[in-house]
Parts: sequence; C-alpha cells; structure tokens
Amino acid sequence: MKMKLHEYQAKQVFAQAGIDVPDSRLATTVDEAVEAAESIGFPVAIKAQVHVGGRGKAGGIELVETPEDAREAAARILGMEIKGYQVDCLLVEAAVNFVDELYLGVTMDRGAGRPVAMVSTRGGVDIEEVAENQPASIARERVDPAFGLQAYQARKAVYDAGVDRDVALDVAGVLTSLYKIWDDRDGADAEINPLMLTEDREVVAADAVLNIDDDALFRQPELAEMEEEAAEDELEAQANEYGFDYVRLEGNVGIVGNGAGLVMTTLDLVDYYGGAPANFLDIGGGAKAERVANALDMVFSDENVDSVVFNIFGGITRGDEVATGINEALSGFDRIPKPVTVRLAGTNAAEGMEILNDDLVAVEETLEGVVKRAVADAEEVTL
Ligand code: GDP
Ligand code: MN
Repeated sequence: MKMKLHEYQAKQVFAQAGIDVPDSRLATTVDEAVEAAESIGFPVAIKAQVHVGGRGKAGGIELVETPEDAREAAARILGMEIKGYQVDCLLVEAAVNFVDELYLGVTMDRGAGRPVAMVSTRGGVDIEEVAENQPASIARERVDPAFGLQAYQARKAVYDAGVDRDVALDVAGVLTSLYKIWDDRDGADAEINPLMLTEDREVVAADAVLNIDDDALFRQPELAEMEEEAAEDELEAQANEYGFDYVRLEGNVGIVGNGAGLVMTTLDLVDYYGGAPANFLDIGGGAKAERVANALDMVFSDENVDSVVFNIFGGITRGDEVATGINEALSGFDRIPKPVTVRLAGTNAAEGMEILNDDLVAVEETLEGVVKRAVADAEEVTL
C-alpha cells in the first residue's frame, strides 16, 4: 500500500532536496490562517490539506489579497469536506505569479518494469485527463534503476516536452532532484503539478505529491513520523492501529473481506450491480473474532456507509471463527446500525453459516447474491 504525505510535508522533503517552494505556514484555525497570511504577505493561496487531488476544482484552494478575504476563505475551507475527507488543516502560502504551469512526475512503469520520469507543459490541469486524451503531450524517460535518472535523460525529457529553452536546464535540474527523492525515499509516486514558471523565469513547485511504499517505512523513520502526524482521517488511523489494509472511497456500500483479490472483486461487483463502494477493507488472513469485530466497528463508524458486505473466503481463516466474531460484534448493539450481509466460503463455511445469528445479519451463499443484497439495502437507505 501507499502512504500519502500531505502537500506541506512533501514540500518539506522537496525543499530539503533543493527544490524551490513558496514561503508557507500551516494553520488549523481561522485566526492562525489570518496571522500566517499577514506574516507571509499578500497575496496568499489558502490550501486545504487533504489526501486527494483536484482540491482546486473542489473549492479547497483560494487566492486572497486581504486579511478579511483570508478570514473568509479560511472559515469556508476549514471543516469543508472534499471527496469524503474533512479539512482540518490549511497551508497558507505565498501566491506565485506564474506565466506557465508544468507537470513533473516520477513513478513505476509496471509495463516496462522500470521507473519513469515524466514532463509535460500541460501542468496545472488534471494530468490524468491529459494522459488519456493526449498521451503524446507527456514526455517520458524510462530509467535504469541501477544508474538512476541520467542528466542527459532529464534534459531530453524536458526538451521533448517542449519546455521553454531558457528554463529547460533549471526544469531538468528539478526533475533530477525529484527522481532522487523518489529513489532515496522509497517513493511510489512523486509529483509536482504545477511546477510554476514566473515572469522572472523562476521555477517553483506550487504543489507537491509524495506517496511512499509503506513496506519501506521501517527504513524511512522521518517519513513514518510524518505519517502519524498526517493520519488526518480517523478511520485510516484506526485501520493502521488494527493492522488492516484500508482505503476510503466515495460510495455508501461498506466492504469487508480477506485477501486483496477477494476485496477487489467484491468492489468491482458492487460497482457492476449499480452500487458504490465506501471503502476497501482487507482484514487479512487468519481473521480471528477480534479482527472481525474491529472491522465491523470501522465500517459502522463511517458515516457514509449505508450497508455492509462481509465476504470471507476461508483458508487459514475459518468460517466458524468469522461467524463467532460477527455474532459477538453485533450482539453488543441494541439496534444494528447498518444492515450487514455475509457470505462465507471455504474452510468451515457451512459451520459458520449455521452459527451466524440471522436475527442480526442476512446470509447469502453466492458472491453475486451477497453483493446484490448489500447494494439493494444501501439503495433503500438512500431513498
Ligand atoms: P490541486 O488542485 O489539489 O492539484 O492543487 P494545486 O496546488 O495544484 O492548485 C491548483 C491550481 O490552483 C493551480 O494549478 C493554480 O492554477 C492555482 N494555484 C495554486 N496556487 C497558486 C498560487 O500561488 N498562485 C496562483 N496564481 N494560482 C495558484
Ligand atoms: Mn496539483
């Protein structure tokens, strides 16, 4: 899985590596934001710190010129919800007076089995859209990981992308730094979008993305600490604590399963039958009763969840144990907060289904059945 840093944290890492970033301060209250803006000097950009892209479009970024406007913007953005994430932290940042916006990125090209460094002059906007509609406008250089991104490759990518000649070497320098960060920090994705060019031909990282391969966090203590600080989503923090693989999504059907493949399949089927997944939650192998109870606790406390699919394939995990866990977790409630539909398959599935208390949960025998039922339950709640 990926560990995502906030923009302000990624910018700290980028700045340490010598990449130019605007002057900025963090704020968690309206007063702090106004104070930060005054000390930085207007105009400033007030930016929501949440783990999603497209904050600009969603209204999570505002440029302001006066303390009054800063106050208004901070009050509006703090507490707002962007794609399911509540904003409780703002980055107040010196506005950049830009003439051009570039995109720089480094990620793993799984097809080629190599890292790839990317440059485009179509920065600022939705780069996924550019990648889909005009793939040729993103210059790509595949990297031999044993040697790293070579200076000539960085220059070639920048020239291929059509970056203005007078800043090409500076931009190539930023790309080289970005690759080095990605490599040194066990990056999954490193991105600057936009890299702004100013009238004075300065090159400034106005946004920053750094996602880390979390299997490598043990050797990135500085970033691991940032993660703790960044666990802004209570449910994600909770998932870390329980040791679940968890991703928050935008729908209302809660999904719990064991094994990434099974959970993905369940997700796809929810979508196929017209529902919208609220999360990915993999409770892993050997799901003892306590883990099952913890998983239910998590999906129940997600306000967006209207119904829950519980899909367990027993291998090491035994169906009877899962069933006991579900009964235990649910018997604690006077009223079950959201309808739960369970499907057990594999080891001791039949015993498990026997054990399940069908006053508390619905039981379905097939994958299609369990998903259709949960989707229907969620629809009923929404109506
Ligand atoms: P994202 O929407 O989450 O990717 O957030 P970004 O930080 O990339 O900001 C989105 C857009 O807001 C940028 O492409 C700019 O057009 C605009 N923006 C952000 N910061 C500034 C700034 O300092 N000055 C100006 N003029 N525009 C900014
Ligand atoms: Mn951006």
